[in-house]
Amino acid sequence: MKIVPRSKLIYSFSSQHKPVERVKPRELVLLETEDAFGGQVKNEETSLEEFDWSRVDGATGPVFVEDAELGDTLVAEILDIKVEEKGVIVTVPKNGILGRKRFNPSTKIVGIGSGYVHFDKNVRVKANPMIGTIGVAPESGEIPSSSLGKHGGNMDVKELTAGTKLYLPVFTEGALFAAGDLHAVQADGELCVSSVEVAGEVLLRFSLIKGKKPEWPILETHDWYAFLACGDTLDEAATFATDAAVDAFMRKYEWPFEKAYMFGSLAINLEINQVVDPKKGIRAVMSKDFMSLNSLLI
Ligand code: CA
Repeated sequence: MKIVPRSKLIYSFSSQHKPVERVKPRELVLLETEDAFGGQVKNEETSLEEFDWSRVDGATGPVFVEDAELGDTLVAEILDIKVEEKGVIVTVPKNGILGRKRFNPSTKIVGIGSGYVHFDKNVRVKANPMIGTIGVAPESGEIPSSSLGKHGGNMDVKELTAGTKLYLPVFTEGALFAAGDLHAVQADGELCVSSVEVAGEVLLRFSLIKGKKPEWPILETHDWYAFLACGDTLDEAATFATDAAVDAFMRKYEWPFEKAYMFGSLAINLEINQVVDPKKGIRAVMSKDFMSLNSLLI
């Protein structure tokens, strides 16, 4: 097994980064990850003004996956996610879906244990550890790890948990994969701009699908596939997600556009990933009753 320590952080996704580790398909990889604030929050008195913002939103990597080439699909199988026992939630004025309201910067530290996040006296939420940031080098340029796109990135999808698979398009040799920004639990939307931000580790295994790639990252759970699209607005993200999903139904059943579009009203669920990052995220969820992986890739 290869272990990548949490000192190996990148703050952008780019084909120019030097890999910190090389792995073969099927090899086990353990990424140790920092929390989204780079471990700078020590207690609830830590003020956001003291932050070194250049150390926020780091992802562990990049990892070079052997044999990955432009036009392939990198399959990241999430085998396990472990999180530490303390998580951090913050409010940041002007941020989050209610950023127009007047409110104070604040920091809350919560305990995580016995399968729960302990938010307040007698108020606990079942933990469901997930990966906020996960992706590969983009097609061109350098994209901050706080943002997101077709390469993945800061997607903040609550369903991206242990036992799922993520399919990412490969844009550069070796793919240059990185991940971090774990949340002990998050609801759809991530309304206040942060969730339960926590350090931890992710156990992964990669494989490749040669010569085919997804239009947007695809998440696979036990029951469904979803395109994870993003846009400058929720409307734009919803349009991109729907477009990709309707195209997939046209391929799957060899239907004309109109028929696949109609079927979309019956069988494609649009769900919100988050509404607070530089781009907004929507997933188009398709039951495995109707959709197969092969029709999702082009
Ligand atoms: Ca995030």
